[in-house]
Amino acid sequence: MSTLLEMSGVSVSFDGFKAINNLSFQIAEPELRAVIGPNGAGKTTFMDIVTGKTKPDEGSVIFGEKSVSLIGMSESQISRAGIGRKFQKPTVFEAQSVRENLAMALKNPRGPFDVLFYRKTKSGAERIEDIASQVGLSDQLTRPAGELSHGQKQWLEIGMLLAQDPRLLLVDEPAAGMTPAEREKTTDILVEAAKTRSVVVVEHDMEFVRRLNCKVTVLNEGSVLAEGSLDHVTQNPEVIDVYLGR
Ligand code: ADP
Repeated sequence: MSTLLEMSGVSVSFDGFKAINNLSFQIAEPELRAVIGPNGAGKTTFMDIVTGKTKPDEGSVIFGEKSVSLIGMSESQISRAGIGRKFQKPTVFEAQSVRENLAMALKNPRGPFDVLFYRKTKSGAERIEDIASQVGLSDQLTRPAGELSHGQKQWLEIGMLLAQDPRLLLVDEPAAGMTPAEREKTTDILVEAAKTRSVVVVEHDMEFVRRLNCKVTVLNEGSVLAEGSLDHVTQNPEVIDVYLGR
């Protein structure tokens, strides 16, 4: 396992307030990582920095074996470099079928979409079947995405991101609004996806994080407060104070 992403000494201020304060963070390839922390800890800003939405005032963000600096790259350049982001709210093409949604994502990783692509190449069609199976939507391929449940839409969007084959996938609170059964299935999807890539899951739901059964990073006031297994970090008195005690 080698390091895929390395953030060192990163700081970001908004109007003089340090949202990210000397943050250092590493993720290996492949790896599944949960990032937790109280509201305002800097979790969203952390993802904004990795995806190029927010430029740090200080520090370095290095990606891949060629040690490419992400600072100064545009959001689309970072996306093309292999970093995908799943926002909390699912954004799928509601009028298109599940198959068409996956085909669009597959056709043009990180570029303009072509709905017809999947009909043109067998390998494209097979890949769609594979991804649909990975995200538990094999029996929904012909359904318009707008008819899917909230959980199924989330899985479809994860599938669309997987179609683009990112090396690093950032996922924001995937279990929010899901039923317990959907949460369980989401765990399986993320655990499986993280066997061949790095996946960072930002999550509030501790039961969900427990099921992910991975290394956890606790953010607080823009820095790493603790890191390790969930049992390890939740025994840390500082973590209990700032996060679990609330
Ligand atoms: P989290 O996602 O962990 O709740 P955020 O990254 O959203 O935390 O926010 C970290 C801190 O930075 C918060 O105090 C928030 O109010 C502040 N912040 C985030 N974005 C901005 C912004 N664009 N302008 C001003 N303050 C911001």
